[in-house]
Amino acid sequence: MSACQRPDGRATLVGCGPGDPDLLTLRAVKAIQSADALLFDALIDPAILELARPDARRIDVGKRCGRHAMRQAAITALIVRLARSGAHVVRLKGGDPFVFGRGGEELASLRGAGVPVTVVPGVTAACAAAASLQVPLTHRGVARSVHFVTGHGADGMLPTHDWVALARSGGTIAAYMAGGTLGLMVARLIAAGMAGATPAVAIENASRAHERRLFRALAELPEALTAAGFDGPTLMLIGAVVGLAEQAAIVERLAA
Ligand code: SAH
Repeated sequence: MSACQRPDGRATLVGCGPGDPDLLTLRAVKAIQSADALLFDALIDPAILELARPDARRIDVGKRCGRHAMRQAAITALIVRLARSGAHVVRLKGGDPFVFGRGGEELASLRGAGVPVTVVPGVTAACAAAASLQVPLTHRGVARSVHFVTGHGADGMLPTHDWVALARSGGTIAAYMAGGTLGLMVARLIAAGMAGATPAVAIENASRAHERRLFRALAELPEALTAAGFDGPTLMLIGAVVGLAEQAAIVERLAA
């Protein structure tokens, strides 16, 4: 420990769920309330920041200066500097920190810098979407597995997944960050043997007040999504279980 390093500084990576503050865990709320400094980006709902102490520093690390948001290395350096000055630094992450959230990279850097780190899990977008749509992701007899896949590799292109394995699994696919590459992803899945009639849904802003849903057969979803112009965070669910949501919606309509 260097002479200027205070021993009580630490960092917490907090999963904040899909947006609605009601979906925070109690542990997340406690961490936010005890924070001296909070680092957040665009996926974090302002209502979550209101839970912090009035005197806590709120730092928007997603704000774009020119073309670039603050780089990952700069974010980590800031957390390290604040923690070394004795602060409890809370890094707010959308959903769960370890599901496509780069939480692992931040954790590794903080550990490397000798900053004590705690991780608080959060409700990941796939689970929030499933609850909102009433899609049981692994409904017995319908889906035996669920696959979290990204549509956006480090280079911004569709990553190479094992499409045949995904198509054959009979499981549910939850595709994150797939808005821009959905056409190609769907083409790959269908070429690998998945039926174009497989039920699918795109959900934008799951759990938030302005949530939107788009149910389509898999083959029709990309074009419909482009026409709908979803521009908020959007998740796709693909698989037979999505058909259960449609049935539930029909029952609800009949009962109304
Ligand atoms: N760590 C996050 C995912 C970060 S990647 C989690 O566990 O949920 C960002 C992607 O997550 C978005 O492109 C979108 O696909 C999905 N996402 C996050 N919040 C969402 C929301 N409220 N509704 C729909 N999709 C969401």
